[in-house]
Amino acid sequence: MAEIIENKSLKKLNSFRIDFTAAKYSNPTSINELIEIYNDSQGLQTLVLGEGSNILFTKNYQGLIIHPRIRGKEIINENSDEIILKAYCGENWDNLVEYCVDMGLGGLENLSLIPGSVGSSPVQNIGAYGVEVKDRILWVEGLRKDETTISKISNTDCKFSYRNSIFKNELKDKFIITAVIFRLDKKPIINSNYRRLSEVYKSKKIQNLKTMRESVIEIRNSKLPDTEEYGNVGSFFKNPVIAEKEFQTLKEHYQDIPSFQSIDGIKIPAAWLIEQAGWKGKRIKNCGTWPDQPLVIVNYGGSTGQEILDFSQKIQHSVSEKFGIYLQKEVNVV
Ligand SMILES: Cc1cc2nc3c(=O)[nH]c(=O)nc-3n(C[C@H](O)[C@H](O)[C@H](O)COP(=O)(O)OP(=O)(O)OC[C@H]3O[C@@H](n4cnc5c(N)ncnc54)[C@H](O)[C@@H]3O)c2cc1C
Repeated sequence: MAEIIENKSLKKLNSFRIDFTAAKYSNPTSINELIEIYNDSQGLQTLVLGEGSNILFTKNYQGLIIHPRIRGKEIINENSDEIILKAYCGENWDNLVEYCVDMGLGGLENLSLIPGSVGSSPVQNIGAYGVEVKDRILWVEGLRKDETTISKISNTDCKFSYRNSIFKNELKDKFIITAVIFRLDKKPIINSNYRRLSEVYKSKKIQNLKTMRESVIEIRNSKLPDTEEYGNVGSFFKNPVIAEKEFQTLKEHYQDIPSFQSIDGIKIPAAWLIEQAGWKGKRIKNCGTWPDQPLVIVNYGGSTGQEILDFSQKIQHSVSEKFGIYLQKEVNVV
């Protein structure tokens, strides 16, 4: 049985570097340990923690934090075109991407350097540079609360959409993802459609998975803060998607408003809205927006989770007053 630690400090286990404790904490390293811990936790409030890179704790956690460290990956099927790879939840996401690139398996390379664990990748359907992980997930395996056997959830039943899935909604805090099953290409097709990526990519005149990964890493390192130095969770808000009619009304007032067509409507970069509302590089006490990317809120040191939340609400209020758009949080607030 995995050990349960009481009053565990989680400062090093969240990328905002918020100083807080969990009343109980456990890091099972096998499925059996996880089942035991989960079954024993009936009646206790529980929360699953990956690498803490998309979570904001506003106070000490009074229940049990389960931090699964189940590692490993295995090829479960293959043919001349594809490999079906199962990766366990405790694997680091970027290590998995690097492994696939080294093996010449295509599909995940645009998602290089996204922090976090494999187990969290379906939760918000991680995405970057024109690719979303849902396009490569066949199914997800995990443990439902009150059950003792692992169940499978198909890609369709995961209800993936932009930075969203069933795991953020109906199954929030009711299902622990233990493994994710990916479909990867043996004959990869490079996807460099994303504007900034295509510029870097063309300038290198090389077309393979390795240089694609290098290009993505180069761009990410140039615009995002180093989490080791500046606590943050990447994008704090989602890019809002609005109706065409609403967009045309905004365009009458703001001719240079950037936009992208998406399947649900018109997507507006939240960073632009935040900048226009006067929040780019703005700082209140030890909390501020990153000067090069205002969508990123940074803990410059010593901020509490509540201070960061208050700061984010001020941004939401300003953007809503100026544009009539309410920014939704991408981060999971606890
Ligand atoms: C610098 C930086 C850049 C980023 N860039 C991107 C980006 O480009 N694209 C993007 O999509 N995201 C990005 N993110 C956000 C983050 O990396 C992803 O959301 C990542 O998937 C979070 O993984 P994690 O293991 O740290 O999850 P955590 O923060 O630990 O958890 C996130 C949520 O998932 C739940 N969860 C965690 N593990 C499990 C599990 N096994 N089963 C069920 N639920 C679970 C948690 O309860 C929580 O609600 C960025 C973050 C940072 C700090």
